[in-house]
Order: sequence, then C-alpha cells, then structure tokens
Amino acid sequence: MPKIEVDEGRCKACELCIVACPHKVIGLAKHFSPSGFHPACMANAEACTGCMLCAFVCPDVAIEVYK
Ligand code: SF4
Ligand code: SF4
Repeated sequence: MPKIEVDEGRCKACELCIVACPHKVIGLAKHFSPSGFHPACMANAEACTGCMLCAFVCPDVAIEVYK
C-alpha cells in the first residue's frame, strides 16, 4: 500500500500538498512540530495511490512517497 512520510522538521504547514492531493489523503496533524507548526500528515491513508503529486509541490521537500 502506498504511503507518504512527512519530515516534520521541514514542513511549514503551507497546505500546498493538501490542495494538490487528488484523493484528499493529507491533513494537518493536531500536534506541533519542533518548529512550531502543525505538520502535514496522512489523514485518509487508505486513499493514497502513490502518485507523488504532493512530493512534487512541496516547496520544502518534506514529503517522501513509498510505493
Ligand atoms: S502520493 Fe498522491 S495520493 Fe498519496 S498523498 Fe501524495 S498526492 Fe495524495
Ligand atoms: S507542501 Fe510541504 S511544507 Fe507545505 S504543508 Fe505539505 S509537507 Fe508541509
């Protein structure tokens, strides 16, 4: 099953990946990252297709996609 991993130290919670994901997989976590942001996370993990759009749009290179 495809999945993403977010480097919480890099994520600035800009939400670009949330908008880009065609399957509404990504949300913002409730907890704070070390940098003080609510980092992106898989809110709807089973819908991920591994298309990598989220990783392409992230300006902080915070997302890795695993297939
Ligand atoms: S890999 Fe594709 S489907 Fe999965 S979270 Fe990223 S944009 Fe969404
Ligand atoms: S696009 Fe990158 S920096 Fe922006 S919320 Fe998503 S993971 Fe975080």
